[in-house]
Amino acid sequence: MLSLTGISRRYPGNIPVTALDGVNLTVEDGDFVSIVGSSGSGKSTLMHILGCLDRPDQGEYLLDGCSVSRASPAMRAQLRRDHIGFVFQDFQLIEGCTALENVELPLVFRGIPPQERRRMAMRALDAVGLSERMHHRPSELSGGQQQRVSIARACAGNPSLILADEPTGNLDEANTDAIMALLESLHREGHTLILITHDADVAARAGRRLRLENGRLISL
Ligand code: ADP
Ligand code: MG
Repeated sequence: MLSLTGISRRYPGNIPVTALDGVNLTVEDGDFVSIVGSSGSGKSTLMHILGCLDRPDQGEYLLDGCSVSRASPAMRAQLRRDHIGFVFQDFQLIEGCTALENVELPLVFRGIPPQERRRMAMRALDAVGLSERMHHRPSELSGGQQQRVSIARACAGNPSLILADEPTGNLDEANTDAIMALLESLHREGHTLILITHDADVAARAGRRLRLENGRLISL
């Protein structure tokens, strides 16, 4: 599915920071990988590179056979759109849009016709148990419900790879459990899942566990 070889990312500036330092990682189709690490260890930087939102300074990143390291911004946008669903700690839903419109949005960018994308979005919201809330706006939903909307948005287009950066970081224990159950069911359906977390209990649910330490990736 993907491989990183010698990936480094340095943020220049008055005090340059090496956020990733020679990261190697191979993820197979259908894997469920968790990555833990303290604050500042490079987790989000790695997530941005995996998600084709950022480019490494060094190293090779292959995603489904395509070289992301050498891809143009337009190519990276296309890879992202067609292959990847994102789940963020702070949900990143658009407040002016209903739950249904939020889930539909990535499908708009894929050029899927309106009726078809509505059907896909409704099915995704149904799968996370939110059919009854689909016309609500994010501010009218609890944190746990907002994260379920964002999971529906991540998987509505059936991406092969789901990247979740601290998806339970803003949730209480009961909601953490519900969100993890949903992510695990996506994994069982065949999605490849990479989960970044602070929470050791959440990380332990993955088939493969890794830790980032000062920009270096270690197997656990
Ligand atoms: P984590 O998600 O594990 O907390 P990050 O990937 O956000 O870690 O950050 C890794 C390191 O890179 C930190 O030292 C952070 O301060 C630095 N960093 C992150 N983003 C930037 C940026 N845009 N510019 C400069 N430094 C950054
Ligand atoms: Mg982070």
